[in-house]
Amino acid sequence: MSGSASPGGRLHYGVLGGGVLGLAAAYELTKRGHAVTVLEAGDRPGGLAASFEIEPGIWLEKFYHHLFRTDRSIQALIAQLGLADRLHWHRPESSIEIDGAVHRFDSPGALIGLRCLPLVDRLRLGAVLAILKLVRTSRPFDGVTARTWLTRFAGRRAYAAIWEPLLTGKFGARAGDVTMAWLWARVHDRTPELGYVDGGFQTFYRELARQIEERGGEIVTSFRVATVETRGSCLDVVSADGDLRSFDRVLSTLAPHITMAISDAVPGGGTADLPPALSAHCLILALDRPLTGTYWIAITDRSCPFLAVVEHTAMADRAAYGGRHLVYLGNYVPVTDPIIKETPEETLARFAPAIRRLNPDFDPGWVTGLWSFAAPFAQPVIEPGYRRRLPPFWTSNPRLFAASMFQVYPHDRGQNYSVELARRVVDFMESQPASVATG
Ligand SMILES: Cc1cc2nc3c(=O)[nH]c(=O)nc-3n(C[C@H](O)[C@H](O)[C@H](O)COP(=O)(O)OP(=O)(O)OC[C@H]3O[C@@H](n4cnc5c(N)ncnc54)[C@H](O)[C@@H]3O)c2cc1C
Repeated sequence: MSGSASPGGRLHYGVLGGGVLGLAAAYELTKRGHAVTVLEAGDRPGGLAASFEIEPGIWLEKFYHHLFRTDRSIQALIAQLGLADRLHWHRPESSIEIDGAVHRFDSPGALIGLRCLPLVDRLRLGAVLAILKLVRTSRPFDGVTARTWLTRFAGRRAYAAIWEPLLTGKFGARAGDVTMAWLWARVHDRTPELGYVDGGFQTFYRELARQIEERGGEIVTSFRVATVETRGSCLDVVSADGDLRSFDRVLSTLAPHITMAISDAVPGGGTADLPPALSAHCLILALDRPLTGTYWIAITDRSCPFLAVVEHTAMADRAAYGGRHLVYLGNYVPVTDPIIKETPEETLARFAPAIRRLNPDFDPGWVTGLWSFAAPFAQPVIEPGYRRRLPPFWTSNPRLFAASMFQVYPHDRGQNYSVELARRVVDFMESQPASVATG
């Protein structure tokens, strides 16, 4: 069937990447009657939201994950898959570390308690956060950097105490270039209630993959796409191991930088902007006792070697993890950062003095399990004016389409926005005449 469209318009799609975007697109394509093969480099679907087994049958995300109440598209998909009763909502504590002290940072009342700032700055900060919640579009923020806007409206002291260290921790040397639209989305889209699926997001990805396969779709793991080439009316996709698959059309959900490296296609015919992206790194500790008791602590102390402390079991019930307390220590770094090559033991040894600043009693003897994970293209760095340069779904090759987290603007990446994007790109591909794709 590969390489030829049936008279009814049924096509064989290859979907590159088995993260949530690739899987949601494959699910949608199978629902619309197409044949689909997902090609994923990793050993299981889920992408950045994939999990690993901490012991047989107990799964944990490699990078901390939760949903917000505003994440409606993924909630709808979870319900469609029959998993609505597995999604539970929690209201865990979120805090910020400033000058060595940890303050609640998850409600207007908590802002008033931020005594490290003069009252006038706390009131300005509260007003700024209220504005970002109320304004329903990013347009007023599209053309300005977060640094310029926040300095002006939240004030220099609040910028220096809170936003500058957080932006620098996340974006390093690029902190001053990040668009205010990114920060608008971070504040606007977030809710204090967080959703988590019983058994972890693994439950969702396993069921999504099962229902794709039930509809005749195919999910091939350990297939690292090396090249995509046109051959007659097909696209040939070849893996790094030399396996060949042929399709009528291909949807790449890989970062556009990779799509361009593996094919001769240029997203948007070359006019689109490809922003740089950072890698994510997480050290995960399993402990025999709590570390902070707080779900989320954003660290502003830039001498600290990590940016966020996420105590997963301050949100999810630790009974599901054999009684372990699970803590992520997260960072965003350039792909060349030495942390990516460190062993988890080396990273823990380097982090231990900073962990003790959060809990002076911390002893490496509390650690009963230790893992680390890194992933490239995990956080795009979006600058002002990106709306005008957003890559479209089409590429210079009429059979190859591209959708990725680089197109969820103005939202920050998130599983929800990949699910939304999946539906939009499938609509777009379906609106393109099959004769274009089949030559
Ligand atoms: C630290 C961290 C925390 C996050 N927290 C949250 C959260 O709390 N809530 C939330 O909703 N989202 C969160 N996100 C964002 C969320 O993980 C992403 O938005 C989402 O997973 C993106 O899905 P995707 O399919 O677009 O991309 P990806 O997940 O990156 O999927 C791309 C897939 O392509 C595969 N691939 C790459 N190269 C090749 C190749 N050559 N051949 C074949 N396959 C290839 C990769 O293995 C991957 O599976 C977080 C992300 C990070 C990094």
